[in-house]
Amino acid sequence: MPRSLAVLSFVLLPALGLASDGPHWSYEGEEGPAHWAGLDEHFAVCGSGKEQSPVDIQATEDTDLPALAPRYAYARGEIVHNGHTIQVNVPVGGSLEYGGRQYQFKQFHFHAPSENRIQGKSFPLEVHLVHADAEGHLAVIGALYQEGAESAALKPLWETMPKEGGEKAELELAVNPERLLPAGRDYYRFPGSLTTPPCSEGVQWLLLKQPVSASAEQLKQFKDLFEHGNARPVQPLHGRVVEE
Ligand SMILES: [Zn+2]
Repeated sequence: MPRSLAVLSFVLLPALGLASDGPHWSYEGEEGPAHWAGLDEHFAVCGSGKEQSPVDIQATEDTDLPALAPRYAYARGEIVHNGHTIQVNVPVGGSLEYGGRQYQFKQFHFHAPSENRIQGKSFPLEVHLVHADAEGHLAVIGALYQEGAESAALKPLWETMPKEGGEKAELELAVNPERLLPAGRDYYRFPGSLTTPPCSEGVQWLLLKQPVSASAEQLKQFKDLFEHGNARPVQPLHGRVVEE
């Protein structure tokens, strides 16, 4: 297969949560984040990359960022426990026009605690909405959760989510990813990577500033699925500018 396609599938398969027979990795111990780069030659950039995610947002640059206006639709999908996260895959879920690229919405998944931090502050949960354009470029919209009112959007997901790695279930109700996002659409923009092996760079990160609420019980239900959490530690910025 042409090199571009090979790269594309290697970047996309893990990001899309499709079956992959890659080497095993985890969030603790010998196969934890500090060792990812050494687990497989294709994971090297996890250690050598200069634009790795997640990040702790400290200094920012004021920019006239374009409006963030994804167009999502209600769609049926499957909810998967892939051993690393709970992920919802939707065949046709919407689109995002951003920075001159046309992205299709592919999937969303969760991390606890949050991967990205703001001024050092960690949040109990973070959702990543992954979009890909026809050439394989990825754009991820992230939203941070804080403890508060129950999330109506998480409720049907949490009721259906498999409790063991390798299991999946069909969602009984259609989901609209829009409902996972806060009303406010101010965001931070920075270049980054996948936060899981192979840590591929070239990912456009768009992190919403306004947190969304989930109940203490909802936060606990997710946290209890992953004994060691499922968040990669923050990575050095190496001179990257975070725009807002
Ligand atoms: Zn993620």
